[in-house]
Amino acid sequence: MDKAKASIKRLALQTGIFSAISRLHGPQIVILRYHSILHNPAEHADSIGSGIIHPSAVFGQQMEYVSRTCHPVTMDEVFEFSQGTKNVPPRSVAVTFDDGFEDNLSVAVPILNRCGVPATIYVIAGYVESIPWYCSLRYIFARTQRQSFVDPFSGTMKDLSTPKIRYESFLACSRVCASRPHSEIDEVIAMLEKKLDVEYKPDQPIMLSWDGIRKIIQHGHMIGSHSLSHPNMAYISPEELQVQMSTSRGILEEQVGNKIRHFSYPSPIMEPHWNESTVEVCTTAGYETAVTCTGGAVHSADRPLSLKRIFVPDTLDDFTWALENMFAGRKV
Ligand SMILES: [Zn+2]
Repeated sequence: MDKAKASIKRLALQTGIFSAISRLHGPQIVILRYHSILHNPAEHADSIGSGIIHPSAVFGQQMEYVSRTCHPVTMDEVFEFSQGTKNVPPRSVAVTFDDGFEDNLSVAVPILNRCGVPATIYVIAGYVESIPWYCSLRYIFARTQRQSFVDPFSGTMKDLSTPKIRYESFLACSRVCASRPHSEIDEVIAMLEKKLDVEYKPDQPIMLSWDGIRKIIQHGHMIGSHSLSHPNMAYISPEELQVQMSTSRGILEEQVGNKIRHFSYPSPIMEPHWNESTVEVCTTAGYETAVTCTGGAVHSADRPLSLKRIFVPDTLDDFTWALENMFAGRKV
C-alpha cells in the first residue's frame, strides 16, 4: 500500500464510520486463511512460495489486533452458528491454516497462545512428515539448470532459459498434477525431478509430524482435513473425490484419536476448487464444516460445507483494512 493511500485508509478507520456501518449488519463471522508463518520468508520462497508465507512479526501484530479488538471463535462455534444454535458477538473471527506446515507449531502456535486465539489447522493427511507435490514442483522449476526439456505431458520441447518461462512451465505442470489421483502423484514428481535434474531435500522438515499434530491439539487448537494429496477437488473423478475426503479423515482420526469434523478444500491452480459434487461427498464423508478459498464472511444462513474465508494480506495495515471492510459488509 503506498503512503498516501495508507494514510487515507487509516483516517477512514479512525473516524469510526466502519464500526457504525458494521452495527447495521446481522451477525457474521470472518474466517481468516493463513498457510505458512516464518521468521524469514525468503528461506522457503522457492518451495512453499512467497505468496502464502506470512512473516512471523506481521502475524504477531495481526493476532494481537484480533485479540485486542475482535472476538476469536473456533470452527466448532462456526458450525453451531451456521446451524442457528449459537449466537456470536460482533467482530467474531476464526483463524485457520491450510496445508499443515511445520512452522504452524514452532512459530504460529506460541503467538496464538500468547494472544489467546484458537486456530484450526487443516492438514494434508498424505503429506504429514513429507513434502507436498506443489512444493517439490515449485523448487524443481526454480532451481533447475537445464535450459530446455521435453514436457512429458504435452510431448513438446519447452524452453527453460529464463525465470519467467520456468515459472510458466511450473504452472502448466501444476495444472496436470492438480487433477492426478493420489496414487500417481509421487511418480509424476519423481519423473520431473529426474528430467530436470533437481531433487528437493530440505535440511529441516517443512511439514508437521504426527507428534507435532498431537502437540497442536494439546495446546487447545483443532485439526481438520485438507485432503489426502492436495488435488483440485473439482477436477478429479467421483471415486478419487471420495477417497480424498474419507481416507484423509480416517488417517487423521486414527493418528490423533479425535473425531475430525472440519474440512478445507485445496485450491491448486484452477477454479472452481469446489462445486455441488464436492459438497455432496463432503456431506457423506461426515464433515460438519468445509471452508473454501472463496472470499467473504460467514452469515447465519450460510451452508456449513461451503464457507467463505478471506486470504490474509501480509501487512498489518492491509489486514486491518480488509477486516474492517468485511465487518462493515464491504468486499475488498
Ligand atoms: Zn492447500
